Amino acid sequence: MNTKKKDIRALSKEELRDFFVNVGDKAFRGNQVYEWLWNKGIHSFEDMTNISKETRTKLEENFVINHIEVDNFQKSEDGTIKNAVKLFDGLVVESVLIPTATRTTACVSSQVGCSLDCKFCATARLKRMRNLNPDEIYDQVVAIHKESLLYHDRPLSNIVFMGMGEPLMNYKNVLLSIDKITSDEGLGMSPKRITVSTSGVPKMIKKLADDEVRFNLAVSLHSAIQEKREQIMPFAKSFNLVDLRESLEYWYAKTKKIITYEYVVWDGINDTEDDIKALVKFCKFAPSKVNLIEYNPIDDGDFRQADNAAIDLYIEYLEKNRIPVTVRRSRGKDIDAACGQLANKS
Ligand code: SAH
Repeated sequence: MNTKKKDIRALSKEELRDFFVNVGDKAFRGNQVYEWLWNKGIHSFEDMTNISKETRTKLEENFVINHIEVDNFQKSEDGTIKNAVKLFDGLVVESVLIPTATRTTACVSSQVGCSLDCKFCATARLKRMRNLNPDEIYDQVVAIHKESLLYHDRPLSNIVFMGMGEPLMNYKNVLLSIDKITSDEGLGMSPKRITVSTSGVPKMIKKLADDEVRFNLAVSLHSAIQEKREQIMPFAKSFNLVDLRESLEYWYAKTKKIITYEYVVWDGINDTEDDIKALVKFCKFAPSKVNLIEYNPIDDGDFRQADNAAIDLYIEYLEKNRIPVTVRRSRGKDIDAACGQLANKS
């Protein structure tokens, strides 16, 4: 590791072309190197076999390739795979491959730790150490894509930004990584297969709409009652439901994309009819659907999954109001790979 040299993948193709012109080479060399870095995903300059030794040495003198390393790999009995990913500075994040009958989904991290303080999430206890760079996010996707081919014999079909971190607090790098994931020079994936999940940062949701992004948006709502939401997600004091609602109406008006609300029902916390009615009302502001997530206990604290009767009542009310609802069962619990369990335990 050398922190003084620049990470070569922080350069755009134009900047790489300029570099070669400046050192008296051809701009075209930049395209070749760019292809090695992104399309072929090499980890070292030596692997660039159609580039002369002299040029490779020049690259080595000026740059590093800060590639991630999959440090620890765990496979769940349900086929879920969790990667502990070591970054160039020794910090670690986790990413998960979730196979189902019809798709394989990569769940990737956007920050080391998290800037927010959701009481029910293990990652929140790590605090935010730094934002991931675009190439560090991209590498997680590539690593999972390869594992999907190797262990499940099919390419990756979907990507969710539901690993460690709050993606909208690392806005620029998350969007740059998605540019690369969707570009033909990267993985060429359709943005329709990508979902960014946020705990709800109104200003940044509006920015997404202004930037005319083409991926999907999920919001971790968990309560549509301001006081309750503040208790379980204290940052909601600064990002309140009125502003959130307004930003989501703005998002829909601009993108015409329906919003997914992620929602865990906890015993004694949000399992009453008032909670349900508040959710139904909130769902009517902008076209949306609800994904009821199973709670994954992170300790023996205050949070317990509500019983089936409470979940059924939610489903009944939502369906009666023609709001699409799905129930998401946990995957990979035995290896601490399920939602909210990513905390670098191993
Ligand atoms: N910061 C982003 C993305 C990371 S969390 C966000 O908040 O959306 C991904 C999802 O897992 C969120 O919906 C989050 O609320 C949920 N989650 C967190 N802890 C959980 C737990 N212990 N059990 C179930 N879901 C949890």
